[in-house]
Amino acid sequence: MQVLVDDFVKRGYFGVILTGGEPTLHPELPRICRYARDSGLHVRMITNGSRLSEPDFAKAMADAGLQLVHVSIYSTRPEVEQQLRGNAGTLEKAYAALDNADRYGVEVNINSVINKLNADHLHENIQYFIENHPYIRHFVWNNLDPSMGRAEVNQDQFTPRLADFEVSLARALQLLQRTGRTFRVEKVPLCYMTDFAWASTETRKIVKGEERIVHFLDQKQTVRQTDWEHIYSEACEHCTLRTICGGLFDRGNGYDPAELSPVFVSRDAIVKRIITDPSDPSYALRTLEAWQEDFDKRCEETARGDHKRRPAADEPDESFRDANAPPVGALTDKGERLFAAKRRSEAKKAEKLGVRMERTAEDAD
Ligand code: SF4
Repeated sequence: MQVLVDDFVKRGYFGVILTGGEPTLHPELPRICRYARDSGLHVRMITNGSRLSEPDFAKAMADAGLQLVHVSIYSTRPEVEQQLRGNAGTLEKAYAALDNADRYGVEVNINSVINKLNADHLHENIQYFIENHPYIRHFVWNNLDPSMGRAEVNQDQFTPRLADFEVSLARALQLLQRTGRTFRVEKVPLCYMTDFAWASTETRKIVKGEERIVHFLDQKQTVRQTDWEHIYSEACEHCTLRTICGGLFDRGNGYDPAELSPVFVSRDAIVKRIITDPSDPSYALRTLEAWQEDFDKRCEETARGDHKRRPAADEPDESFRDANAPPVGALTDKGERLFAAKRRSEAKKAEKLGVRMERTAEDAD
């Protein structure tokens, strides 16, 4: 982890996100956090809140320099949260995690994956947080990745249509805006959030030309992402937002391009709002003219194919490997035995819940 953190610092990265799976299961998390923070990185974590509901652990992470925590909650309706988590009592723990983070001075945000079961009450969740946890000032939504976990083999149960959440998402964002809160939305095409296009994670990345490195604890190891795996439909060619829109998330044919429809609004107004955002320190060019020049240069590079020198998404970045790096992610016999045991116990649980198991690389073979 030290090698990775040192490399992020060398690349001039702003920060590191400790995520998972569930990062709090890592026994050395506070030490990792401390090292990243001491190296000058901004440190944030995404968690289900289970361990953070323990005051001692929350304090240890705060003392180690954790600055921001995103607690993942799908729904404030207990029965929906329980169905999606597959466990009872997780909602109370997540609420305790929110309060603990706030108590120990760690800024706290809510992360929520939009899916078929919560698509109609995203605004109701926001109302609850405003009333019961008013210190939460920032919310992040991710539309479901249909190729991940249980969603992959239970798409009809979990994958929403874009139209399922459009109205509720708009109401939720309006509520947040009215109360002076901030938000980001990931994997939602701009035609389903046109009034809030500046809050799209993909659009902000496209506008700012961002890349990110993801270090996986499996064979994938370290991947540098510069391409966002999205697709467009014919309708997109007529849309004024085409050049800054991430389009439709392209995984597992979960979403239908026929749901996209062009919009005719000012692209530059959206760009300007992103690049002049005083709360976002991650982009240096602050005028529309400077941005346009930078953006044109990047587009030309793409057209010439220069960007292909970089590894594509999900391709291990060999140039990154450091000869001194520990063999992170190496498979051992013991690890494989533990994994097999875990699969057996998960299979029993899945059977009880009436869902199918996600597929592994081995199943695919
Ligand atoms: S029509 Fe296509 S380019 Fe336009 S907002 Fe929708 S997904 Fe984006």
